[in-house]
Amino acid sequence: MKVLIPKSKPAKGAVGKTGLWRTSKPVVNHNKCIKCVICWAFCPETTILRFEDNSVDIDYEYCKGCGVCANECPVNAIEMVED
Ligand code: SF4
Ligand code: SF4
Repeated sequence: MKVLIPKSKPAKGAVGKTGLWRTSKPVVNHNKCIKCVICWAFCPETTILRFEDNSVDIDYEYCKGCGVCANECPVNAIEMVED
């Protein structure tokens, strides 16, 4: 499925792919997700992929594991797990 253009796109910078900084990672439970895209809007790193049907997934190459998405999800469809 086609990924919609994000607000901005993370890229490999001088410090490399920032996903390496992570100690825990968000995992989307697609059975609970209601496709509200709030997590996509709130992610400070723009590392949530939003698809044409408004389903979402995580770009683990750049996600820093901050947990904002899990905190903002209204139906607790994102769980932070040890990475
Ligand atoms: S844990 Fe933070 S950086 Fe990773 S997808 Fe969620 S909001 Fe974005
Ligand atoms: S905030 Fe939660 S329910 Fe909304 S799109 Fe993200 S994972 Fe799905």
